[in-house]
Amino acid sequence: MAEKKKKNELEEKLVYKTKFIWKESKTKEKKDIFRFSEDYKKFVGEVKTEREFVKKAKEMAEKAGFIPIEKAKGKPGERIYIINRNKSMALVILGKKDIVEGANLVVSHIDAPRIDLKPHPLYEDKETYLALLKTHYYGGIKKYQWVNIPLALHGTVYLKNGKTVDIVIGEDENDPILILPDLLPHLARKVQGDRKAFNTIEGEEMNLLIGSMPVEKLEEGETIKLNILKLLNEKYGIVEEDLISADLEIVPAHKPRDVGLDKGLIAAYGQDDRVCSYTNLRAILDTKNPAKTAIALLMDKEEIGSDTNTGSKSMFIEYLYTEILALTHETFTPRELYRAMTNTQVLSADVDAVMDPSFKQVHEPLNAARISHGIVVTKYTGSGGKYSSNDAHAEFIGKIMKLFDENGVYWQPGELGKVDEGGGGTIAKFMAERNMDVVDCGPGLLSMHSPMEIASKADVWSAYLAYHVFFQKNQ
Ligand code: MN
Ligand code: MN
Repeated sequence: MAEKKKKNELEEKLVYKTKFIWKESKTKEKKDIFRFSEDYKKFVGEVKTEREFVKKAKEMAEKAGFIPIEKAKGKPGERIYIINRNKSMALVILGKKDIVEGANLVVSHIDAPRIDLKPHPLYEDKETYLALLKTHYYGGIKKYQWVNIPLALHGTVYLKNGKTVDIVIGEDENDPILILPDLLPHLARKVQGDRKAFNTIEGEEMNLLIGSMPVEKLEEGETIKLNILKLLNEKYGIVEEDLISADLEIVPAHKPRDVGLDKGLIAAYGQDDRVCSYTNLRAILDTKNPAKTAIALLMDKEEIGSDTNTGSKSMFIEYLYTEILALTHETFTPRELYRAMTNTQVLSADVDAVMDPSFKQVHEPLNAARISHGIVVTKYTGSGGKYSSNDAHAEFIGKIMKLFDENGVYWQPGELGKVDEGGGGTIAKFMAERNMDVVDCGPGLLSMHSPMEIASKADVWSAYLAYHVFFQKNQ
């Protein structure tokens, strides 16, 4: 007996174990988890593009006392936002300490894999009597998952008359949907049966159904196409040329749903990475008078490499730091700018994969994250010998683990798949390029990049707690 006790003590002292949140959490915390997940479901069901995220985040920020940077005075505790081309955004709470001593920054991305329209998308197929839209997918999708499901069109069109119109078609129950029809199995044996799984549907076969009826009182020409243009023109004032410049995105039309009889999981489109972006946003809105300046960055274009001026490779981040320095200092030099960035600590808030129950062979069990075990702290990402990875330093990641432990944040270590199985990158390395300390940290998903990604409500909650504790307490 005594020996057994001794062994248990030793085990407790020396052995690392993850925690299954549903077993660890008390009734009150379970209530908090479920309440928070209802807010999250509502948000992620409404917000399906980066523009929509920025618009909604601005509304929520203003309600929580954030003001545009042009109106800021530079006082500690001041709550500020800055928007970049309607597609990325920073929320800042000025700290009691000078930003030159560093900020606490959480960066997440608000773009998600989807299907974009080509610049000249609309055509009529004479032989099939249908009008269709040509598409070009965005991000790493398994294209076969996007056929035969209800799809919605979200976007912004810049009209010839100089006005812009926002469009959402397919979200209301009475709206029509768009759809990518797949080939019937009866005739697919040869044409699809011999293809590799990833090519079951090819990019140029992703042609969206948008119409089937001709315009009235016209016998000749592309009457079905013309009818669609007429409908678009009547409702939005759009002419075909306007489509060339438009940002038009095709996304799943379905709403988030609870999964399982116990309702512990959420299935929804766009959880990579709006689960982190929503919790990042909520965390900064709930932060008050932090010691160090808190910055929530909501970035675009992560899914296609973080390029462009709204992605994380953009100088928008340097611009943001310069603006904060200008607000809080009479004068400053590049030295202060570089010091502020060098002293900044970053959580790269992006999703990881949890162990898949039906494809365990791609994971290495000791280092695979598990669902409902808290946010995944990922020391390094990348692939094939850690290539193209952020490799967080022991001092920094250890400090973050300690911060989480001391504040009741459920977390677990994780590595994305077996060595040489595949891999993936995040925004982390672009923050590391700016000489900031950064570690990846976000909930794990099942079915990542699919039209219905799956997260645990417990993990969503732990992400919120993690980012909030970091903003409020990381010294
Ligand atoms: Mn992501
Ligand atoms: Mn992704």
